Amino acid sequence: MAFISGDEYVNRINQLKSEVWAGGRKVDGNISEHPFFHGVMKSQAELYDLQTDPQLKGVMVHKDKNLQQEIGTSYLIPRSQNDLKKRREMIQVWARHTAGLMGRSPDYMNTVLAAFASSVHLLKGQKNCFPENLFNFYKFAAENDLTFTHTFINPQKNRSSLACFDENSTNAHIVERISEGIIVKGAKLLATQGGITDEIIVFSAPGAMDASQAFAFSIPSNTKGLKFVCRRSFLGNGSANDSPLSSRFEEQDSVVIFDNVLVPWERVFFYDNIKVTDEFYIKSNFVPFTLHQIVTRQVVKTEFILGIAQTIVETINISEYQHVQSKVAEIIKGLECEKALLIQSEVQAKPDQHGVMVPDRFPLYVAVNLFQENYPRFAEIIQQLGASGMVNLPDEAQFQSVLGKDLEYYLQGFEVNGHERVKIFRLAHDLCMSSFGSRQTLYERFFFGDPIRLSQIIYQTYPLDKHVNMVKKFI
Ligand SMILES: Cc1cc2nc3c(=O)[nH]c(=O)nc-3n(C[C@H](O)[C@H](O)[C@H](O)COP(=O)(O)OP(=O)(O)OC[C@H]3O[C@@H](n4cnc5c(N)ncnc54)[C@H](O)[C@@H]3O)c2cc1C
Repeated sequence: MAFISGDEYVNRINQLKSEVWAGGRKVDGNISEHPFFHGVMKSQAELYDLQTDPQLKGVMVHKDKNLQQEIGTSYLIPRSQNDLKKRREMIQVWARHTAGLMGRSPDYMNTVLAAFASSVHLLKGQKNCFPENLFNFYKFAAENDLTFTHTFINPQKNRSSLACFDENSTNAHIVERISEGIIVKGAKLLATQGGITDEIIVFSAPGAMDASQAFAFSIPSNTKGLKFVCRRSFLGNGSANDSPLSSRFEEQDSVVIFDNVLVPWERVFFYDNIKVTDEFYIKSNFVPFTLHQIVTRQVVKTEFILGIAQTIVETINISEYQHVQSKVAEIIKGLECEKALLIQSEVQAKPDQHGVMVPDRFPLYVAVNLFQENYPRFAEIIQQLGASGMVNLPDEAQFQSVLGKDLEYYLQGFEVNGHERVKIFRLAHDLCMSSFGSRQTLYERFFFGDPIRLSQIIYQTYPLDKHVNMVKKFI
C-alpha cells in the first residue's frame, strides 16, 4: 500500500535519528517525544490517518494508472479537470483539519515533487541534468508516501545586487564531484519542518551566479553531515488550553547546514547548471501546481479567520457598529476573491504537450500575492475587534484554582460565561498575537517569496499586449 498511516509516519521519522539541534542540544531519543516536535508530529500523524479513513478514501487516495497502484492524492499528476478538482478536495480535507495553519502539511512538498516530475522533459539533453533520476525519485516517493522538507534560499548574509562578488559566501555549494556523487558544503536559509520528514529537497533558487551553487537533489534527513538547527520554539506553555494552536501546529523552522554532505549521483537532479536553475523554476509546472495547493489551503485559513472574527463580534455583542461590519466584510471580500481565483485557475486550466492538466498560473499568482497583503490585515482586524480581550486571558490554571468561579462570572461575555469567552480569545490571541501567530503572519507574507518581487513577476509575465492593442484600436 503506497499511503501511510500516522503511526507509520511517526515510527519512520523516529527511526531516522536525524541530526537535529533544539535548545542548544542535539535531539536524542524519539524526536516525536521532544517538546519542540511532539504537537506538530501528532497533528501530522492525524493527517496521515485521514488517508486511511475508509470514508475519505475516494478523495485521499488515487489509483494511479502510470504507477499502477494506489497513491496519496497529493502525489497525483493531474491529467483532467476532475483530477485537479480531486487534488483540491484532498488538500482541503487536510487543511480543514489544521484550519490551514500547517503551511507545510505533506501535500505541499508532495505537490512540488509531482510538479517537478511532470516537467522532467525540460531537463532532457541539458548539461549535467538527470531527468530520469527525478522521475524515478518521484515514483519512489509516491510509492513509499515519503514526507519532505525543502530548502531553496541562501542565507541572508548580503542581499545587495553585488553580493556575487562576496568571496566568503556562506551559501551551500558543491566542493567536489567524485565517482559516488557531489559533495556539498555551506548553509541554506531555512527548512520548515526540518528534521521531522523523511527527506529534504534542496533546490537552488533562480539567480545563482556561481555554477557550484546551481543544483537540485533530494537526500534522506539523516544523511551524514546534514544538520538542522532549530530556532527558539513558539509553543507557548505547551498546554492545549492556553495555546490551542501553537501546541498543535508549531512547525519549527531550522537553518540547514551541509558539512561536506555526499549526495549520491542517483539523487542528483541537476548540478553545475545556472541556466537550468533559472529556467526550471519558472518554466516547469512548479509555480502553477504549488500555487494551486497554497491557495486551496489559504481559502480554508481565511474561512477560519472569518469564523474567529464573527465569533468575537458575537461574544462581546458589537455587530451593530458600522465599522465592525466593514471590517468583517473585508475578510469576506478576501475570502470570496480567493475562492473565485482558485476556481478560475481550474476553469482556465489547459493540458500541456505531455497531457498534464496545468491550472492557469495568473489567477493563482494574483491570489497568493493578494494574500500576502490581506493576511496581515486580517490579523490586524482580529486585534481591532478583540481589543483588550486579546490580552485579558487568565490561563487554565487560574480557572482551575479557587478563583475559578469569580473568573467565570467577571469575565463573562454576551451570553457566554467567562471560561468560554476566554477560550475564544485565547484562540484569537494564539492566531494573531503570540510568537506562533506572528510567525504565521511572517510566513504568509514570505514563504512563497518576497511579495515585492512576486508582483514584479506578475507585471513582467502577464500578457499585456492585448490590452494595449484594445486601447490602440479604440484610439
Ligand atoms: C516562516 C518562514 C518559513 C519559511 N520556510 C521556508 C522553507 O521551508 N524552505 C525554504 O526554502 N524557504 C523558506 N522560507 C524562506 C522564504 O522563501 C523567504 O523568506 C523569501 O523567499 C524571502 O527571502 P528572504 O527571507 O531571504 O528575504 P530577503 O530576500 O533577504 O529580503 C529582505 C528585504 O530586502 C528586500 N530585497 C532583497 N533583495 C531584493 C531585490 N533583489 N529586489 C527588491 N527587494 C529586495 C525584500 O523586499 C525584503 O524587504 C521561509 C520563510 C519564512 C518567513
